[in-house]
Amino acid sequence: MRALQECPSCGGRAEILDFDVSGDKLWQVSCGKCGLATEMDDERAICIQHWNRRDGEEKLRTKVTILGVLVPLGMAMSFLVGLLFGLLGGGL
Ligand SMILES: [Zn+2]
Repeated sequence: MRALQECPSCGGRAEILDFDVSGDKLWQVSCGKCGLATEMDDERAICIQHWNRRDGEEKLRTKVTILGVLVPLGMAMSFLVGLLFGLLGGGL
């Protein structure tokens, strides 16, 4: 079994938690002190791996956050364009 590294944020002790999500078991590594946690994963070993490679994960998370902003923005744009065309069509 792989050992969990200490929390990269506060140096606190990490613990592995398991959740039952609609019949599936999901794992998450979480810091007992500051609450920093990995994404949930159905593979316990992958969860531990993610925690132990937390530095790289932070960069990944930034990309995900940017996507999370761009996607709704794109959807709002296409909605506005659709609305505009709808109005023009109705006027004719
Ligand atoms: Zn911590």
